Amino acid sequence: NEKTDNYLIEYSHFEKNYKRRNPFSNKGNFGKAIIIGGSYGKIGSITLSTLSALRVGTGLVFTGAPEYGSLVLQTIAPEAMFFSCGDKYIEDIQIPFENYTIGIGPGLGTEATTKMAFEKMLENENNPMVLDADALNIISENKDLLNLIPKYSIITPHPKEFERLFGKTNSTLEQCELARKKAKEYEIVIVIKGHNTAILLPEGTCYYNATGNAGMAKGGSGDVLTGIITGLLAQGYDSKLATILGVYIHGKAGDYAYEKFSQESMTAQGIIQCLSDVFLELN
Ligand code: AMP
Ligand code: MG
Repeated sequence: NEKTDNYLIEYSHFEKNYKRRNPFSNKGNFGKAIIIGGSYGKIGSITLSTLSALRVGTGLVFTGAPEYGSLVLQTIAPEAMFFSCGDKYIEDIQIPFENYTIGIGPGLGTEATTKMAFEKMLENENNPMVLDADALNIISENKDLLNLIPKYSIITPHPKEFERLFGKTNSTLEQCELARKKAKEYEIVIVIKGHNTAILLPEGTCYYNATGNAGMAKGGSGDVLTGIITGLLAQGYDSKLATILGVYIHGKAGDYAYEKFSQESMTAQGIIQCLSDVFLELN
């Protein structure tokens, strides 16, 4: 049952599939997201992912980061809970509860102890998770780890990270076709980020996104996407929908940030602020 269809993500996908909140709901109905990453000098990235998971409706957000980042995280994102995974770098990932959804990678770093902690975590987890940034760079250095990624996980490489993972191609079209093969082979969702982000599903289908703009071509934008997709996955959207809606919402928030701040002055924090505009359009 080979599929090679290509689709464009449209507003109707968002409007039709977005689950409105039941008035009688409580935080237990909206999942637990665990955002793991950060290292000495890169606590900002994991803070951005944490804030983003909080801003897409997640019931509870926990951040696992080096102790060194706890004060910053608890100050900038007081709604999130913190658990320490090491001193200046992540050395051991002990998740203190059950029924959670992991998003891992932003600012993670590639210290030897962090690599070991990451590998151990991959060995122990079976549920779909979101893998980005240094989580993907660690996998690139040890390709056997690709086989440990839980089925229906979502990986979000930019083209350079994709190249490190799966090798060089001669064009974006070729890269997309290679991603289609790899998504099938490993039964994962692959998001190739950029202008017109491409989403490759395990069954071979491709979704292209048209929201977003060049104002997002700045450090931090990808960390926001990681938090958004992890938050949606935690809330019970399946991997396909969490990715399609997440990529769409991220770009749309970027477009609102463009209107409000200009492409030059908008930042990742501006994208996070504008997530509310995306949801207000629906409600
Ligand atoms: P990263 O490289 O990990 O920071 O991710 C950058 C994010 O910004 C991705 O989600 C990209 O899709 C988005 N982005 C970067 N440049 C552009 C662009 N020129 N147009 C639209 N989106 C972009
Ligand atoms: Mg990135």
